[in-house]
Amino acid sequence: MQSFRYSQAKTIEGATRAQGMFLAGGTTLVDLMKLNVLQPSVVVDINGLPLDRVEALPNGGLRIGALVRNSDLAWNATVKEKYAVLSEALLSGASPQLRNMATTGGNLLQKTRCYYYRDTNYACNKRQPGSGCSAMDGFNRIHAVLGGSEHCVATHPSDMAVAMMALEATVHTSGPKGERAIALDEFYLVPGSTPDKENVLAPGEVITHVTLPAPAAGTRSHYLKLRDRAQYEFALASCAAVIQLSGGSIQHARIAFGGVGTKPWRSREAEKALEGQIASPDVFKQAAEAAMAGAKPLKYNEFKIELAKRALIRTLETTTQSA
Ligand SMILES: Cc1cc2nc3c(=O)[nH]c(=O)nc-3n(C[C@H](O)[C@H](O)[C@H](O)COP(=O)(O)OP(=O)(O)OC[C@H]3O[C@@H](n4cnc5c(N)ncnc54)[C@H](O)[C@@H]3O)c2cc1C
Repeated sequence: MQSFRYSQAKTIEGATRAQGMFLAGGTTLVDLMKLNVLQPSVVVDINGLPLDRVEALPNGGLRIGALVRNSDLAWNATVKEKYAVLSEALLSGASPQLRNMATTGGNLLQKTRCYYYRDTNYACNKRQPGSGCSAMDGFNRIHAVLGGSEHCVATHPSDMAVAMMALEATVHTSGPKGERAIALDEFYLVPGSTPDKENVLAPGEVITHVTLPAPAAGTRSHYLKLRDRAQYEFALASCAAVIQLSGGSIQHARIAFGGVGTKPWRSREAEKALEGQIASPDVFKQAAEAAMAGAKPLKYNEFKIELAKRALIRTLETTTQSA
């Protein structure tokens, strides 16, 4: 591991001024520093900042501090009751020990699990811009079928972010130019020709909290994750659904996928196919076809398209049956 300077931020302003890489739970950052994939010259520990609370908002929504641990968020009574999809997504991720360390901000910003990104023996445009993409002609079974470019097809691995995408979360930040509120849907970038640029954060900008809107009456939600083994494994395809039903009719639908996109993937196509329709197997199938209509398979991951369709159909069955 390359040597670096370590400092502890005492204030949010101090953290943004430090011009370093933020250390939260460290479960992504420290791993990647050991592998020489990330080589920050300054590491700014933000664990002392007062960002570790989950609070109800006056408008019925929820404010989640960036340092709230994934376990605490998953087991929070309000989250379990009103945002089941988020609790389920968090509990499907990693292991209990990792979830006790991992934070809300760090989870949103975790790095891809593409093995070519994590192995410095291989070319990777995300790690080293302009070096090439080893996944394109390599073993690309775990890679993206949505949002990829010739420069990068790495998936975003977060489960939590997929649920937050379907919940229409907003990311709040503080940086050298002040505070910002960014819709999660606009927070992540597709790789294009600059896969190293993964989100809209500016240098020194720290995530302070995430807000969720109040769920509308009659809203149900669910997260389903499909993977190679039942625990301690990233998604091959996952689906988050937030559905508002009235008398069997779908009033409002928010759908997002994990494991298949270069970012947590909101599917407006699926939402359009569902809204205003009576919940039924035919409608679910149409939504699944619409969601994957733009998918582009690579040599080894065509199976993900069918898997994602089935994930959506099963998620919708579960969500609407519980109504
Ligand atoms: C073995 C293993 C299995 C895993 N399985 C899963 C899984 O199945 N599903 C899943 O979703 N995840 C999984 N993960 C990933 C895990 O969820 C992330 O490592 C974790 O959420 C990152 O949070 P952290 O607080 O530890 O982040 P850190 O490692 O501290 O930081 C991660 C990145 O975010 C930046 N950062 C952190 N906080 C902030 C902030 N407030 N503002 C700005 N930048 C910030 C850091 O600078 C760094 O770049 C797994 C990890 C491991 C090691």
